[in-house]
Amino acid sequence: MKSISLVIPIYNEEENIKPLFREIEEVMSVNAIDYEIIAINDGSFDSSGSQLREEAKRSPYIKIISLNRNYGQTAAMSAGFHCATHGIVIPLDADMQNDPRDIPRLIEVMDSGFDIVSGWRKERKDKTLSRKIPSWIANSIISRITGVHLHDYGCTLKVYKKEILDYIKLYGEMHRFIPALAVWQGARITEVAVNHRERKRGKTKYGITRTFRVVLDLLTVKFLTKFSTKPMHFFGGAGIMMFFFGAMSAALALYLRFSGIASLIQTPLPLLSAFFFIVGIQFALMGLLAEMIMRNYFESQNKPTYIIKEKINF
Ligand code: UDP
Ligand code: MG
Repeated sequence: MKSISLVIPIYNEEENIKPLFREIEEVMSVNAIDYEIIAINDGSFDSSGSQLREEAKRSPYIKIISLNRNYGQTAAMSAGFHCATHGIVIPLDADMQNDPRDIPRLIEVMDSGFDIVSGWRKERKDKTLSRKIPSWIANSIISRITGVHLHDYGCTLKVYKKEILDYIKLYGEMHRFIPALAVWQGARITEVAVNHRERKRGKTKYGITRTFRVVLDLLTVKFLTKFSTKPMHFFGGAGIMMFFFGAMSAALALYLRFSGIASLIQTPLPLLSAFFFIVGIQFALMGLLAEMIMRNYFESQNKPTYIIKEKINF
């Protein structure tokens, strides 16, 4: 029998908790799946807290974590991942937009040889202008930049092997980047279309500004994972480019001066050249600083800069 941990972040979802839990229980018993529900109360101020306590009293498979205030969906999910005790971890939204009936199928796909099965809300039931279009754009940018091509980074319903999550630390609003972070660390991923339903009760916690925050997070993720052990390659590269532009401007200025076409003060080139050199030096120094910070980070916690998959005959 399969054992799964369902991780459900909850922020003011009082009307959804009971119907959602009933729905999950039914799916799990029909498919004979051994499960626990880890519900994280992310500082709700409606009756979600007391409802969750009631549910926990009713069933020992329902486990509750209450955060002391509202931290956001990522922190809530992260708390849930840490407390998950089964080998397969499945986050889903509390608002019943994800359908638990998809779970057995997703697990089956995972068993065919994947570490992550990512849900794809192929027929998403949200507003077109404020949600679907920005999300479509964000997904193509994220896929392009991370090199991990998914149609739907934002779908909470995904199936993870627990050990994948153990390596990933989540900050800010980064839960949507788990697939990219995991694949960079060698995880095998696939995508499966899942059912998506309209939100019938309660209100969405997000608006259009989320798209911008997602793009900013993308920059951080890309930088931290691709260059965190070699920041000098990033900053130094930018610095060398600046030096190159500086040298070009200086050369052009001198050429114009000595061929008598324009004196040094008739063009902005000398100024431009000085500007490029200064910025170039700044980049190089920032690279050195970043190297020091990075060493401090890894060495202070005795953190290896790699993950070992297997050791034989040790
Ligand atoms: N959520 C949370 N903390 C927050 C915001 C949201 O735990 O600060 C939960 C929310 O209760 C829901 C899930 O995250 O279970 C997704 O939120 P929502 O349905 O509002 O997002 P949408 O589906 O509109 O993208
Ligand atoms: Mg929702």
